Amino acid sequence: RPVPHASVDAVEQAVAAGAWQDEVPAHAIGYASYRAAGGYRLLQECAAGRRDAESVIRALEDAGLRGLGGAGFPAGRKWRLVRAQPAPRLLAVNLDEGEPGTFKDRHYLERDPHRFLEGMLIAAWAVGIEAVYLYLRDEYAGCRALLERELAALRADPPVPLPPIELRRGAGAYICGEESAMIESIEGKRGMPRLRPPYVAQVGLFGRPTLEHNFETLYWVRDLVERGPAWFTREGRHGRQGLRSFSVSGRVRHPGVKWAPAGITLRELVDEYCGGMAEGHELYAFLPGGASGGILPARFADVPLDFDTLQPYGCFIGSAAVIVLSQHDRAVDAARNLMRFFESESCGQCTPCRVGTAKARALIQQSQWDTALLEELSQAMRDASICGLGQAAPNPIDCVIRYFPHELGHPPSACGGMEGS
Ligand code: SF4
Repeated sequence: RPVPHASVDAVEQAVAAGAWQDEVPAHAIGYASYRAAGGYRLLQECAAGRRDAESVIRALEDAGLRGLGGAGFPAGRKWRLVRAQPAPRLLAVNLDEGEPGTFKDRHYLERDPHRFLEGMLIAAWAVGIEAVYLYLRDEYAGCRALLERELAALRADPPVPLPPIELRRGAGAYICGEESAMIESIEGKRGMPRLRPPYVAQVGLFGRPTLEHNFETLYWVRDLVERGPAWFTREGRHGRQGLRSFSVSGRVRHPGVKWAPAGITLRELVDEYCGGMAEGHELYAFLPGGASGGILPARFADVPLDFDTLQPYGCFIGSAAVIVLSQHDRAVDAARNLMRFFESESCGQCTPCRVGTAKARALIQQSQWDTALLEELSQAMRDASICGLGQAAPNPIDCVIRYFPHELGHPPSACGGMEGS
């Protein structure tokens, strides 16, 4: 947000006064243009009975579309699970995008909001949804103004009868990107993850069966159904199928959102999509999945990047936020920085995470790490934390111990890590 040193009150006042309205991205495709180019025709075909829900769900399954918020649950199976639950059913869309290094949802939303809204309404039609809740990251003020404008245009001239659609503002908590914490937050409570079972597909928002999706999963629905699953599955590398949106940042020449084949390697991604490493930088390490997905050294730059492929290395791809480090960075600094983040963002509900992140942060501030104690702590956090934040928080530490032992023994750098990179 380009308002350095603004107080929260000042930001709120600016938003209330509409001072950020002009941040609506000028390049966004508006409602009229989207419809003129054939938009919402698929939704109309669905609503008119010219397509049946079964064929739409099968297209998602044949394409192998998985949840693109990080968990990777098969989208078609999720639609079936919720559809089998008793009505009324609800849809909650996660637009919180709080994973450090992830910016793909914003990228697509700012350019083509109705492609997402059409996918959302097709999901609502196929699953039999009564009402839709959008949970938008509050820092995305321009996206909020854009969504408000485009939802108003959609409601003014709806292509089909619309379900109620509510746009809710997040409040800056990383944990509210976790599906059950997001649901708690939409209900007006503190955003704290729920124990499961029951799963949100059974008992979700306001106690009702809930289809919960990341923005990008719904964004691709129209293309997958209209173009057919083969459009998606014929892409892919190294034995993987499909396409993925990688948010690439760090020491590369051209960072940004890269729509690249599933299974592409880090080396291929950097060389073919990012113009190579930035001037004066050589690949040293990379984070394949944002803050929680671990840190790998350059020697793993030829491992395919996709769901499941990084597990043998103790890492995961999550929402595909790839952060590239060079010889000017240190993995140990990144781990220190990330653990401060996890400690700050822990909701505090369960002891292994609340106490574990604080303890781990203090332990790794030392120049000499007590690796035996840290490994024991990691195991306790992994085994006993309620949600993915506490379970994945030790990943950067475990990776440093496993792959970067030569860095241990250094004191923390002045900035503590990647800030500013
Ligand atoms: Fe909260 Fe952390 Fe427990 Fe998740 S693991 S519920 S973030 S305290």
